[in-house]
Amino acid sequence: KLYNQVQDLKGNIRVYCRVRPFLPGQCSYLSTVDHIEEGTITINTSTKNGKGRKSFNFNKVFGPSGTQEEVFSDTRPLVRSVLDGYNVCIFAYGQTGSGKTYTMTGPKDLTENSQGVNYRALGDLFLIAEQRKDTFFYDVSVQMIEIYNEQVSFTKHTLEIRNSSHTGLSVPDACLVHVSSTSDVIDLMNLGQRNRAVGATALNDRSSRSHRDLTSGNILRGCMHLVDLAGSERVDKSEVTGDRLKEAQHINKSLSALGDVISSLAQKNSHVPYRNSKLTQLLQDSLGGQAKTLMFVHISPEPDAVGETISTLKFAERVA
Ligand code: ADP
Ligand code: MG
Repeated sequence: KLYNQVQDLKGNIRVYCRVRPFLPGQCSYLSTVDHIEEGTITINTSTKNGKGRKSFNFNKVFGPSGTQEEVFSDTRPLVRSVLDGYNVCIFAYGQTGSGKTYTMTGPKDLTENSQGVNYRALGDLFLIAEQRKDTFFYDVSVQMIEIYNEQVSFTKHTLEIRNSSHTGLSVPDACLVHVSSTSDVIDLMNLGQRNRAVGATALNDRSSRSHRDLTSGNILRGCMHLVDLAGSERVDKSEVTGDRLKEAQHINKSLSALGDVISSLAQKNSHVPYRNSKLTQLLQDSLGGQAKTLMFVHISPEPDAVGETISTLKFAERVA
């Protein structure tokens, strides 16, 4: 049914903006966010109290009181399309501290209510698989990938947990772990977090689903990437050297390559520059074509962050 869905003019790329609330203990007398109206967010661009304003348009804007549940309810249709064989990519973009990990995973003291998109997405897929179990056989595999300094690494322990073989994926199949419940996925994610290098460019939770139609015997395969990107802040080159500088340059390279790919897809260019970074190479199958992309752009409300906030919103507007 969904195959014939008419695509809107923007194609398969959606951009949601999310504003982090002030954190406990922060003084909250002034926010850079002037106001939010449906898909439009207006920023006070001047440090001198509201002198300058600039508006940016997105498919959706979640204000500081937006809940994890509200965010997921606008993400759910995309997640469900994985079950119909679509490839889906969900990114979290924004400066460090703006709420990327909160959106994708949740806060440190995770509760059911505060669970982020990762848990909810997988939970939703297992729920539907259960509902459709008389008609479809679903096989879900998950893999955690980290890209650090243009090096791709896989959570090695996955091999020891369980092994499932798949074809048609551009990553080593042996690193895919078969999972059958949300708690399997949580275990895997915890493992991945522990093995993670500091300051990773992207922590990529790739879940692949294949499903077999039990009546026709057809097999469909959908793939979902859930990507917590590295902080987008520009690093002052005069202040960092050595490994930190190298890391900053790699992060810059992959984030700008991602921006270039998504914006050329949004403009429907015939050439899409996938090959410019490991991140975009890895995601190639899930960006463009029939694939669906959702980018969450995160901003911090503090006036101190206004420079990064504006560059984040400009980046996002380029791909929206
Ligand atoms: P990032 O991953 O972009 O560096 P985090 O997700 O770690 O940022 O968020 C920074 C801090 O702000 C964390 O303590 C997080 O729990 C909190 N936070 C982020 N977004 C929200 C939100 N929407 N509501 C409540 N707290 C949030
Ligand atoms: Mg984070």
